[in-house]
Amino acid sequence: MSEPSLAAVLTIDLDAVRANWRLLGERTRPAPCAAVLKANAYGLGAARVGPALARAGCRQFFVAQLAEGVALRQALRDKTANTSIFVLNGVMESERLSFEAHGLVPCLNDLGQVDRWAQFARRLERKLPAALQVDTGMNRLGLPAAELDRLAGEPERLAGIDLRLVMSHLACADEPDHPLNRRQLDRFRTAAARLPAARASLAASSGIFLGPDFHFDLARPGVALYGANPTPWTANPMTQVVRLQGKILQVRSVDRGETVGYGASHRFIRPRRIATVGVGYADGFLRAASDRGGAVLGGVAAPIVGRVSMDLITLDVSDAPEELARPGVLVDLIGGDGSGRGRSLEDVAADAGTIPYEILTALGQRYERRYLGGIG
Ligand SMILES: *Cc1c(COP(=O)(O)O)cnc(C)c1O
Repeated sequence: MSEPSLAAVLTIDLDAVRANWRLLGERTRPAPCAAVLKANAYGLGAARVGPALARAGCRQFFVAQLAEGVALRQALRDKTANTSIFVLNGVMESERLSFEAHGLVPCLNDLGQVDRWAQFARRLERKLPAALQVDTGMNRLGLPAAELDRLAGEPERLAGIDLRLVMSHLACADEPDHPLNRRQLDRFRTAAARLPAARASLAASSGIFLGPDFHFDLARPGVALYGANPTPWTANPMTQVVRLQGKILQVRSVDRGETVGYGASHRFIRPRRIATVGVGYADGFLRAASDRGGAVLGGVAAPIVGRVSMDLITLDVSDAPEELARPGVLVDLIGGDGSGRGRSLEDVAADAGTIPYEILTALGQRYERRYLGGIG
């Protein structure tokens, strides 16, 4: 492999994304799986992930914002016929023309949006597609119970709308025993029964693993596609997608009593070998991982010593093979060569006191990004 020009390499395995999508689809069958590509496909690049999944047969995508939908529509190089792109955050008055022009489907989240979208359809004198999101206990987006009551009593408000989907979102799907899961399921069934017939969707990544009751007509996985564990209570059934490697810039010996980095937060109690690697918090390698976590070099753990700074981290490489602890060599920060010795997204998230979602979406723009597979 050629030496990377930048100080770090982010490898994204598009075939692994597709394998994950297929695995989730097997679990939800006969209901198909969509793919959630919001926030630039969780930081991995929607312009690469989208077409790779479309070639594997994915026909339904979700993004959060209008601009993400427009970019994805362009990346898919397909007009509206084949693929639906749903925009979770709804549609503002000023955005209606763009939704229409790019064939995007808004998730209508309140009665005002329903009325304005229906009015827009009347003005255009044709039906406009939409999803309807109902709130079942998350209290974030979606029709509140009182608005659902009104809509159920006045279904003509949906005239002009081609209702493609009725959906809701689970708050605690990663905790199978949480009582809110059942309560949201019951509320969702009741809500769907009161609305005009349409396909229904409730489960995201973890919801898929709550069982067939939660699958309805379409699942909406995001993070599991990208290799994070949708079942935190047991082993990860997904395939690794992301490998982050940082380059060693310098190696030095330190004596007992010396310190490393800002604030001199780490003091050595015996002589050590320290490698400085060109990845820092400006790359999304969170500062909260200071003096925690680490890298893998030649199959050996190399703990982070001292603070994570803007462009650099310092690793204790004393236990690593000497011929590897030298400038230019890449260390594994997330994922690995498949031998299982790399650090998982979950490990790295725990080091920084956060969740894999934040690790992925924080991945920086200074990495050399290498995409594997995804063709054909
Ligand atoms: C983000 C999101 C998803 C995907 O969630 P994951 O946990 O990443 O699978 C699905 N539906 C909605 C409404 C979302 O906001």
